[in-house]
Amino acid sequence: MAPVNRPAHDKYDYVVIGGGSGGVAGSRRAASYGAKVALIEVTPNLGGTCVNVGCVPKKIMWHAADLRDKIMHHAPGYNFTNLPETPTFNWATFKPQRDAYIRKLNGIYSNNLAKEAVEEHHGHAKLLSPTQVEVTRPDGQKYTLNTDKVLVATGGRPTIPSDEKIPGASLGINSDGFFDLEEQPRRVAVVGAGYIAVELAGVFNSLGTETHLIIRKDKVLRTFDPSLQDVITPWMEKTGIHIHKTTNVTKVTGTKGQPLTVHTDTGEAIEVDCLLWAIGRHANTENLGLEELGVKLDKKGDVIVDEYQNSSVPGIYAVGDVQGKALLTPVAIAAGRRLGNRLFGPEKYKQEKLSYEDIPTVVFSHPTIGTVGLTEPEARKKYGDDQVKIYKSNFRSLYFSMVPEEHKEPSMYKLVCVGEEERVVGVHIIGIGSDEVMQGFAVAVKMKATKQDLDDTVAIHPTSSEELVTLR
Ligand code: FAD
Ligand code: NDP
Repeated sequence: MAPVNRPAHDKYDYVVIGGGSGGVAGSRRAASYGAKVALIEVTPNLGGTCVNVGCVPKKIMWHAADLRDKIMHHAPGYNFTNLPETPTFNWATFKPQRDAYIRKLNGIYSNNLAKEAVEEHHGHAKLLSPTQVEVTRPDGQKYTLNTDKVLVATGGRPTIPSDEKIPGASLGINSDGFFDLEEQPRRVAVVGAGYIAVELAGVFNSLGTETHLIIRKDKVLRTFDPSLQDVITPWMEKTGIHIHKTTNVTKVTGTKGQPLTVHTDTGEAIEVDCLLWAIGRHANTENLGLEELGVKLDKKGDVIVDEYQNSSVPGIYAVGDVQGKALLTPVAIAAGRRLGNRLFGPEKYKQEKLSYEDIPTVVFSHPTIGTVGLTEPEARKKYGDDQVKIYKSNFRSLYFSMVPEEHKEPSMYKLVCVGEEERVVGVHIIGIGSDEVMQGFAVAVKMKATKQDLDDTVAIHPTSSEELVTLR
């Protein structure tokens, strides 16, 4: 079913605003129970941030970067010969190839909506009342959908400092702009210390761009377990990223599309071809009519919801990035589906909700990081020092046994356990393959596994993950 230009029904059971991870999953689940559902997306493409300018194209770029690391730094140790000294990544030809794959996914998303008979609308959505949503099509025409319930799943967008605050800030790009780059910049400055800054600086660096990372404090990923920060920060430096610590950008000079100079409060003037801001994201809650209807937003502009995703106005719900908690695709999907179950599913789902505890997550750094549950400081604060026991191992994966010393990536695996029974409340890992290792251990934490449960599990050898069931 192609997108429609006008409503096919006088009244819907559910109108979903936003065709990203949360909106698509939530609308399909509701429709699977026979609800009459319409989904409205303002851009021409479904899939939202994750598919278009997030997880998917980012992970593809991570794979490209990882491959270059392997060819350049690891393969010679395995006695591969005739390797190029500096393998060249062809960004300009790769980008259209990557874009074509994303367009294919956009089509699959549209087909999936059609399969569940979710009606697809394209245009800007705005709530006129809790039961009326106005759609403004790209050609300016408007129409209104009547509905019982509305799901707000409008996601968020990158934050960039204003030019008033930092003159010339708008000469920089954000993560959306990263995916628009037609050519690989020769020199880049990335500002920020979170997921996006670490991931994109890593991609640039591994692909051969001179990479500067400008951070306000002295470590990256400060909301993660300190042991992870202590391993990843110096390793990023060792791989060639110039980390400018305790540094703030004061001014940016130059012309868009030309080399820029990034001035800092430490007196540096960093010459780059591209400046990328990665200092956080904020919710898309403007021009939606939310506040006019009394939907409460917090100070940041995120929709305030209770544990069942109810907003402060009955019949209006919110899932995903727009509600500001755990900005991750599987969280938006899980919350959207559970809400669909609760509102339209059988009786057994009437209390269905997503638990926001123990959400596993991965940072696609080089090497990758996986984490679930409480960090060591969080556990100490919650349970008291005498209740917390830490098991930790710093090691080198067998893979690196054949790789020259300067390219042997570090691994660090850590368990945070509490109480006499040593329940595992946190798992924090860094090292090759951590992205794939994490999911299974997240199941263990969710099931409230103890250290003994891990010890009772026979190791798989030779792997990195066996480290987590053999810690002493
Ligand atoms: P979105 O996916 O942002 O969807 C919201 C949709 O609503 C958009 O399509 C938007 O156009 C539409 N919309 C907005 N306003 C309106 C309106 N008024 N009318 C109609 N439509 C509207 N998460 C992971 O789990 N793993 C990762 O590896 C990962 N990598 C990421 C990398 C980057 C660079 C970024 C930026 C994010 C990444 N994320 C990752 C986070 C993930 O992309 C988001 O958490 C997820 O997309 C949130 O889904 P959502 O449905 O809440 O919002
Ligand atoms: P994050 O919130 O992860 O990190 C932003 C960081 O930027 C902050 O932690 C802060 O670090 C720093 N910062 C904030 N303001 C400023 C400032 N004014 N100047 C300099 N630095 C500043 O945001 P991201 O934009 O990286 O990502 C947004 C979200 O998207 C993530 O939280 C994550 O949920 C999701 N995401 C998930 C990914 C994944 O699953 N792999 C990948 C990418 C994104 P400090 O306080 O140390 O200065």
